[in-house]
Amino acid sequence: MIEKSPNNVSILVPRAVDQPFDYRVPDTMELDLGHVVQVPFGRETLPGIIWGAAEGDISPQKLKSIQKCYDLPPYTPDFREYLAWVAGYTMAPLGNVLAMTLSATAALKAEPPQMGYIAAENPPDTTAARQKVLSVATTPATTRELAEKAGVSPGIVRVMVKAGLLIPTPLPERQVPPVSVPSPVTLSGEQESAAATLAAEVTKGTPGTTLLEGVTGSGKTEVYFEAIDAALKKGKQALVLVPEIALTAQLIKRFRKRFGETPVLWHSGLTPAQRRKTWRALATGNASLVVGARSALFLPYPRLGLIVVDEEHEAAYKQEDGVVYHGRDMAVARGHIGQFPVILVSATPSLETLYNVQQGKYRYLHLPERHGTAELPDIHIIDLRQHPLPTDQWISAPLQAAITDTLARNEQVLLYLNRRGYAPLVLCRACGHRFQCPECSAWLVAHKRDGQLLCHHCGYNNVIPASCPSCGTTESLTPCGPGVERLEEEVRKHFPEARVAVMTSDTTSETDGPDHIVEDILNQKVDIIIGTQMVAKGHHFPHLTLVGIIDGDAGLEGSDLRATERAYQLLHQVAGRAGRAHLPGQVYIQSFCPESPLLDALAHHAREQFLEAEQSRREHTNMPPYGRLAAIILSGKTEATISQTARELAKHVPAAKGVRVLGPAPAPMFRLRGLYRYRFLVHATRRFPIQKYVQQWLDHATIPSSVRVKVDIDPYNFM
Ligand code: ADP
Ligand code: ZN
Repeated sequence: MIEKSPNNVSILVPRAVDQPFDYRVPDTMELDLGHVVQVPFGRETLPGIIWGAAEGDISPQKLKSIQKCYDLPPYTPDFREYLAWVAGYTMAPLGNVLAMTLSATAALKAEPPQMGYIAAENPPDTTAARQKVLSVATTPATTRELAEKAGVSPGIVRVMVKAGLLIPTPLPERQVPPVSVPSPVTLSGEQESAAATLAAEVTKGTPGTTLLEGVTGSGKTEVYFEAIDAALKKGKQALVLVPEIALTAQLIKRFRKRFGETPVLWHSGLTPAQRRKTWRALATGNASLVVGARSALFLPYPRLGLIVVDEEHEAAYKQEDGVVYHGRDMAVARGHIGQFPVILVSATPSLETLYNVQQGKYRYLHLPERHGTAELPDIHIIDLRQHPLPTDQWISAPLQAAITDTLARNEQVLLYLNRRGYAPLVLCRACGHRFQCPECSAWLVAHKRDGQLLCHHCGYNNVIPASCPSCGTTESLTPCGPGVERLEEEVRKHFPEARVAVMTSDTTSETDGPDHIVEDILNQKVDIIIGTQMVAKGHHFPHLTLVGIIDGDAGLEGSDLRATERAYQLLHQVAGRAGRAHLPGQVYIQSFCPESPLLDALAHHAREQFLEAEQSRREHTNMPPYGRLAAIILSGKTEATISQTARELAKHVPAAKGVRVLGPAPAPMFRLRGLYRYRFLVHATRRFPIQKYVQQWLDHATIPSSVRVKVDIDPYNFM
C-alpha cells in the first residue's frame, strides 16, 4: 500500500512530463499503486496511473482530487519500473512513455454488459413450449440461445419477455480460456531438444534472453510454439512480436491452428473498436496470447511470462517517431525487469545479438538444418558485365532462361526488386529537368498505374504532366531505372502466357495483409510473383523454386553503418523463399560486382566468413555493437535558425573521455516533410554513459522553441 500521506498520491499522466503530480484521494476510494484513475490536468481530464506517495510540495488546499478509479487491474510494479527505464534509456519524457500504454482510452471503461434473460421465480402455469423455455433458462442466456436450447422460435421467447416470464439479467463476461491444440508435428531431435529447453525455462520462469537461430524453414516457429504452450499452461500471458510487415494471414492461421481462438492481434491497422476490445482483453488478463507489432510492448499485461521476438534482426522494430526505441532491445529489458524469459528468433541474427551471445549474456540455441528433405537453394551470381542488360530492361539472358525452365516445370518464380512504383526518377530528355519533392530532398517516384509522381518520404503527389514544366517540351519525360511496375511490363512482354502477381504495400492493404494474392500463389493460380521486401517475410510457398534478385547491389550505396549487414539479411531471406518444400530451389542474383565479399559469402552459404569480416570492421572502428552511438537531429522550418542552433550547440559540446561528437552536418535528407534538418552523431565507447552526456549537453544550450530536437539512442537510420 501507499505509505506516506495516505490521502494524497502522485499520479503520472500521459503528457510530455517527466514526473508525476500530487492529487488527493477522496475518502470513498481505496487505491493502490498502479491503479488507473481519472484526474483533472490543466483544462483537460486525463487518465493517469498512481505512481507513488505524494511528494507533498503543493499545499493541501490546492490539491485537486482524483475523479474516479477505473475497474482495471493496476499496472504491475515491474511494468511501471520498465516504463521508467524506457524513459531513461530513450531520453523521452516519462509521460510520453506512459501515453504509449494508454493507446485506447475508450478501453478504460468496461463496456456495458450484454443483457440476457433468466426464468422468473414462481412463474404461473403456461404452455408446454413456454415451460420448455423456462426449464432451460436457469442461467443467463440470449434470446437466440434460449430459443435454440428449447427448440422453439425466438418469437415465443420475446413474447415471454414481454409477459414478464423471463427477467433481464447481465450476461457474464465471456472469457476466452487459453487452448492449445496438441501439435500435429513431431519435432525432430534437434527441434525437440531446443523446444524442451525453452519450455523448461518458461515453466520455471528462468529470466534471461535466448537466441534461437536457424535457417528459414528449420522449424523455429514450431519450436517457439512449445515455449508459448508452456507459458499458457502456467497461466501466464505470452507476447509474440513480429515486424509489422510480417503480420500475415498465413502466420495468423498457423497460430490459430495451434492455439485455437486464443491469439489476439495488435498492430497499427486495427479499427478503433478492435483496438479497444484487444486492449481491454489484454489489460484485464482475459486474453493470454497476443501476436503484435512493437507497440504491443507497451500494453499493461497483468501476468506476462514470455516474449518472443520473431525476425529479431529486422530494422522495422525501430520506432522512429515520438518515443524513439528499438522493439527488440525493449523486449529484452522488459523480460529482465519482469524476470521472465525472452526468445529472440532469426535466421540471420543481428550483430548486436550475436555479440551478446559471445559475451555470455544471452543463451544460444541453434537449428542447423531445414526440416525434412528441403535443401538450401543453389545460389548463382549473374555478372551483368558479362551479360549486359538491353536498354530499359532488367532481366538478363541467364535469368530469362531460368524463368523459362521453371515455368515449363509448372513451378513458381519470384522476382525481387525492392522498389515500389514504375521508375525511381523521371527526367526531361530535352533540358535535364528532374522531378523533385517540394518538401523533401528526394526524387519523385513515377507510379504509372495511378499516373502519379509520388514522394516515398512524405506522400506528396502530383499527376505526371504531359510536357516538361521546365522547358515545355512535350513527350520528353523519361522514366529512369526500374520499379516493380516496370519490371511487370517486361515480364508480361517476355512471358505473355504467365500469370503474374505484384506484391507490394501498394497492391496489398495494410490491415489484412496480402491475403488474396497469397491464397492465389498457394493455389498455384500465379506463375510469376514480382515483389518488394513485402514478399521476403514470413511466407512459405511450396511451389516456388526460382528466386531472381534483380538488383543484388541495392542497399550497398551510402554510408550506413548496417548497410552490408542488412543487405545480407534481406538477400538471404529472399533467397530462402526458394525451394522450401520437396522441390529444390535455385536463386539467381544479378550484380555488377559479383566479387563483393557479401555476394561471395551468400553464394557459398558462408555466413560465418561474412560475419567475421563485418565484426572485425565494426570492432576496428569501434562501431556498434563494440561502441555506442546517439544521433541528435535538429529540424525546423527556417534554414537559418536551424544552422545557427546547430553551431550554437556545437560550442557547448562537453569534453569527456571516451566520446566524440561528429557534426553538425546537414542531414543526407536535408529537407524532410518541409523541415530543414541538421545532424550530430555522438560516438562513444561501449560503457560510456551516453544518455547522461547528451542530457548534460542539451541542458546547457538554449534552443529556440521553433527548433525540434530529436535524440535517437542507438540510431538505425542515418538519413
Ligand atoms: P522457420 O520458422 O524456421 O522458418 P517453420 O517453423 O515455419 O520454420 O517450419 C517450416 C515448415 O516446416 C512449416 O510448414 C512447419 O510446419 C514445417 N515443419 C517444421 N518442423 C516440422 C516437423 N518436425 N514435422 C513436420 N513439419 C515441420
Ligand atoms: Zn516528400
